[in-house]
Order: sequence, then structure tokens, then C-alpha cells
Amino acid sequence: MGLLGPVRDDPQSAQRPGFTKENFHIDWDTRTVTCPNGITSPPWKPALGDGHRRLSVLFPRRACRECDDRMKCGGNVDGKGRHILLLPEAQQKIQTHVWRDQKTSNWQQRYAIRAGCEATVSETVHAHGLRHCLYRGLAKTHVQHVLTAAGTNIVRLSECFPPGTTPTSPPRPRTHFQRLCQRLTA
Ligand code: SF4
Repeated sequence: MGLLGPVRDDPQSAQRPGFTKENFHIDWDTRTVTCPNGITSPPWKPALGDGHRRLSVLFPRRACRECDDRMKCGGNVDGKGRHILLLPEAQQKIQTHVWRDQKTSNWQQRYAIRAGCEATVSETVHAHGLRHCLYRGLAKTHVQHVLTAAGTNIVRLSECFPPGTTPTSPPRPRTHFQRLCQRLTA
């Protein structure tokens, strides 16, 4: 089974609603992209994005300016051609595949299993410092992990009750000594 994880939405999608990169058709042979309105871009050019290799796609300005859907196309208000950055081919194919797959109920059911674990792993790493070993050697590191897990459970249990309250618990059974005293004084 492969690693299962979601592709995040465009962080600026709220400001740029409408067609996203996934709505465009990519032709890897001709190095062009076709938009939802059937306009095909000139061949893309290599570029850098955040210091990483990217493919820069720029649609013809004239076609975008005359397009009725330009407001749905990244909020294109300034009349420029739509610009898209693609990942290198292998990564982009994975991203496109996952983007489609993650909308299916089958994918969401599988990811729900991981999502539950992720919250616990994140809590132990960020709140309880599990990223760093305090000891040398696997045996001691294992002890650290077990103690951190136990501590995480205690913290979580303590959050189940309002502050200042204690959970109700059954009375403790009498000890042998108490039972002996009871018998002698009866
Ligand atoms: S704005 Fe340009 S890229 Fe976007 S749909 Fe219209 S023609 Fe295509």
C-alpha cells in the first residue's frame, strides 16, 4: 500500500476562485496546456518556484482578455494571460491523480484511518517533544516513547472532565488488614 495523503488546495483559492490547475488538460508530448475553454497555450518554459524546478505556462493575453470566463479563471481582472506553474512531469502526474482520487468516498474512508493517527502523532511531536531522543540506544528510546504515550493519554483523560472536578470511581476494596480488624472487632 502506498503513502496516502491529500493534495492541499491552492492557498490563495479564496482570492482566486474558479478554474484551478486541475481543470486544465496537460499534454506532456507537446508541452502545452489546454484550458476549460479550449484555448491551448504555447509550449511551457522551465522556471523556478520557491527555489524548485517548475514549468511556467502562460496563455495568450489576447485570448484571455476576450474570454467570458476570465473572472472564473483565477480572478483574472487585469487582462493578463492566465499563468500556471506545473511541477515536473512525474510529480505533476501524481498530484493530478491524487487530486481526483481524494474526492472519492473510497479514498476518504481510507484516509480517515490515517487522519486519526496523524492527530496523535502530531500531538506527541509538537506538544511532548517526541521528535528528539533524550537517551542513547533503542531500549531507552523505546522507554521514552512508552512514557510519552502514557503521558499523552493522561493529558487527554484530564481534558475529559471540567476543571476542578474529579471523575467518579468505584470505592476501593478493603485491604486484608482492614478485613482482619473488622473481624476482630465484630
Ligand atoms: S481566461 Fe484564458 S485560460 Fe482562462 S478559461 Fe479563459 S481563455 Fe482559458
